[in-house]
Amino acid sequence: MYTVAQLIGGVWGAGGEGGELVVHDPADGSPVTRTPVATADEVAKAVEAARGVAAEWAATAPADRAAALHRAAEAVEAAADELAEATTAEMGKPLDDARGGVAAGVGTLRQYAELAPLRGGRTLHGAHGALDFMAPEPRGVVAAITPWNDPVAVSCGLLGAALVTGNVVVYKPSERTPATGWLLARALDSALPAGVLSLITGGGEVGAALAGQELDVIAHVGSTATGRVIAAAGARTGAKVLLENGGSDPLVVDADVDPIWAAEQAALGCFANAGQICVAVERIYVHRDVAEGFLDALVARAEALTVGPGRDPGTQLAPLVDRRHRDHVHGQVTAALADGARVRAGGVLPDGPGAFYPATVVEGCRHDMALVREETFGPVAPVVVVDSFSEGLRCAADSPYGLAATVLTGSMSHAQRAWRELPVGTVKINSVFGGAPGGAAQPRRGSGQGFGYGPELLDEFSTVKAVHLEAPGGGHW
Ligand code: NAD
Repeated sequence: MYTVAQLIGGVWGAGGEGGELVVHDPADGSPVTRTPVATADEVAKAVEAARGVAAEWAATAPADRAAALHRAAEAVEAAADELAEATTAEMGKPLDDARGGVAAGVGTLRQYAELAPLRGGRTLHGAHGALDFMAPEPRGVVAAITPWNDPVAVSCGLLGAALVTGNVVVYKPSERTPATGWLLARALDSALPAGVLSLITGGGEVGAALAGQELDVIAHVGSTATGRVIAAAGARTGAKVLLENGGSDPLVVDADVDPIWAAEQAALGCFANAGQICVAVERIYVHRDVAEGFLDALVARAEALTVGPGRDPGTQLAPLVDRRHRDHVHGQVTAALADGARVRAGGVLPDGPGAFYPATVVEGCRHDMALVREETFGPVAPVVVVDSFSEGLRCAADSPYGLAATVLTGSMSHAQRAWRELPVGTVKINSVFGGAPGGAAQPRRGSGQGFGYGPELLDEFSTVKAVHLEAPGGGHW
């Protein structure tokens, strides 16, 4: 059983007057973590204490901040096994996936440590004898509010980029993965000056109390509904708001692709991490010419997945994060069935403990069903059959979200149309999870605002000052 401590004003174990919450293992319901719930007063103290050390960290040479982040990456790497085990125990994903998330987080910390000191401002061409330049500066106090589905990788991105650019950070991990957040904060804090990083824990009300403080940046990765509440909080205080939120990513399957290969791509996109990935495939538009073979192969893939607790080696489909979330997933499936769709695989709540949900393939879906239009965040593949590539592309583009999209096609002209016409931050052609390192995307509409990843995130956490230096009286120095 993990016992989480908060870090406020450089002091571990601070606060804890707001009671505690217990996290349960989604595989069997056993308790795994006890964590304090921060009071509003503790949240305010954390922000005030962070503000107190902001100037010193901002004045630290960028190379020294980068060296600290390199040391932090080493500390996270040294704690990798512990972090992966905590992730699996708290949110259920297969241990190998959890290890992959930690490795991705370490890689991101190292990238930011390398990139940050190389950045500079522009020199301007002003009057002769004057000096004109643009100086990047830290923004100040950053709140990082993060989700549970890939807790180390996502947090490392926000924390690494904010810290290395000279900001101080108050970190609020998800209430479903607090021990993972605590272990990460412990590792990072061991390499940083006291007070530069704070950790407060608790649920949405703690996040809301944090977002309501006088902050310079609120960075939120999580659901669209929460992102909108946070945007409103930022509008009240003037804090900059960075949002990486939900999605309903489409997969368009063209008439000229191998349906077996397309089904492999669809299965990976829909069922990896039990569908709990922001860029999971959430809806499939398949051309009628290949629909039958595609559906048969997708059903076979869904039924072949090995289901079990994430800690068991070989598990491909682990439980969902909790039963509340399972109810949401099953509710969307049930509503689609009531509206005329048909289950080809899964779709039935299993008996037994935990929050398991089977890999589910639903055929006969329509574009206007909630299962297709809303974010499901579960191992569900809703399939809509379309009569043309244009129809598939049109449906894919018609969404309240704008995170990412994948198109499977052998036609270069269709590929070109796809990346031009889809109003999303990332377009992937012929690979559901492909992408080069450093790729950063701006989510659109309900999926968020600003860059949440890549080198551009360093700019998001920086501000720029234009400077004009001239000798007195227009003379010389
Ligand atoms: P969530 O928004 O419910 O919770 C995320 C964080 O916000 C948690 O720390 C939570 O305590 C906090 N929070 C909740 N209510 C709050 C409020 N009113 N004010 C301030 N903070 C509040 O999201 P979740 O369920 O943890 O995560 C799943 C969601 O995250 C999915 O929608 C998924 O698509 C999204 N996600 C997006 C990305 C991306 O990069 N776009 C990455 C991962 C996850």
